Amino acid sequence: MFRIKFTEIPGNPKKINREFIGNPIDEFVERYKRFAGFYAIKNLIADDELHKRPLKHKKNRVCRFCGATYSAEEKFKSKAHLLPELIGNKNLLSDFECDKCNSLFGRYENDLANFLGASRAFSIANAKSGGLKFKSPDKTFVVQKDFEVPENIPKLRIESHEETNNHFTLDAENKKVTFHTIRPSYNPHHVYKAFLKIGLSLLPDEFVDDYKIAFAILRSAKKNEETDNPLYKLNIYIHPGPAFPSPMAILFEKKQKTDAIPTHIVCLMFHNYTYQLTLPLNKQDEWMFDGKKTVTVPHMPPFIDKHFAVKFGVPKGQRLNFNLDELKRNEKHDITCSFEDYTDTRLSE
Ligand SMILES: [Zn+2]
Repeated sequence: MFRIKFTEIPGNPKKINREFIGNPIDEFVERYKRFAGFYAIKNLIADDELHKRPLKHKKNRVCRFCGATYSAEEKFKSKAHLLPELIGNKNLLSDFECDKCNSLFGRYENDLANFLGASRAFSIANAKSGGLKFKSPDKTFVVQKDFEVPENIPKLRIESHEETNNHFTLDAENKKVTFHTIRPSYNPHHVYKAFLKIGLSLLPDEFVDDYKIAFAILRSAKKNEETDNPLYKLNIYIHPGPAFPSPMAILFEKKQKTDAIPTHIVCLMFHNYTYQLTLPLNKQDEWMFDGKKTVTVPHMPPFIDKHFAVKFGVPKGQRLNFNLDELKRNEKHDITCSFEDYTDTRLSE
């Protein structure tokens, strides 16, 4: 992945400039140049020591999402995370999310967890710590840490019951195995809202007012009836090879206010995924929608270094639709892993 370069701004010691440094993959050079021409990094958070910051005292907190302040009924008791724990965030906490909103967003995150399905259990973090056991809805496919080896050795145990289920396809020649599983039931629109919440959490305070409509959508219980609203579609890349070491989110801001493109784009990287989300309906963007201008959303490139892609393979892009606002059941989910070598134990018996 790309590295981050920190530079102090002369005369303003409180501000640090952050740049993303890396060599884009050949296939994405044009996309990279175009995107970097339009957007610059406004904010970046990552679950590492550098990005930890002190939290406001509970009595001084205001909920960014509903406006609640500290009171007898609202004590800001819950440990609110800036990025969901379920994507690997341990340390990045929020001081602007009340208990009520935290519990609402927790429900969206359940849908996100189900959408990610077995992929979370396949992560190296889980192979090390073993916090997670994935069981397919029909309980015939199980992924969990192998507890028979010493704890410090990352190893997974994958169980496939009932051969007729065809849980995997082995491609020995290319050293790949694809697991065929089913995602637990999830509501796609709630998954969108889990991403939107992350994006709105990245905003510096001065932009919050510009996104009143987006905040209202996030908390609204009204069902989304549209099936094809482009706002609720996300671009995603899946990269082969090792996962991102820790989750990271970047807020990009457009350089020229006069460009007919959305003000903010969010990039979220975790596991082997990169998601691109447009922060919707910024008040400052209203002028673009006068019916005369063509509004475009520049495609973000994957921020995976060229050398990494040469070694492990080129990321694959996809566009996912999160318009459906009801439970999606039994959705097929394929996960491909590469391996160094394998032994067929049936032959050695
Ligand atoms: Zn709230």
